[in-house]
Amino acid sequence: MSFLIVACGRCGGFLLAKDEQKTRTCPYCGSKVTLYKAKKLASAKTANEASTILRRLKKDKFLNREAKHQ
Ligand SMILES: [Zn+2]
Repeated sequence: MSFLIVACGRCGGFLLAKDEQKTRTCPYCGSKVTLYKAKKLASAKTANEASTILRRLKKDKFLNREAKHQ
């Protein structure tokens, strides 16, 4: 099993899903997101890794004017 981070097609919010799931309800706008149609941003092997990636993506989204430290 792996985890996916996908973007909601309606509001662009990031959400976490297991790859075995077919749909997820967006926690931000409440729309139903069909996973295979959604834009996949990243995948992870563990829930922990997935939430770390998700946090980083959210941070990038909100702080996209800050210098990138990589
Ligand atoms: Zn949404």
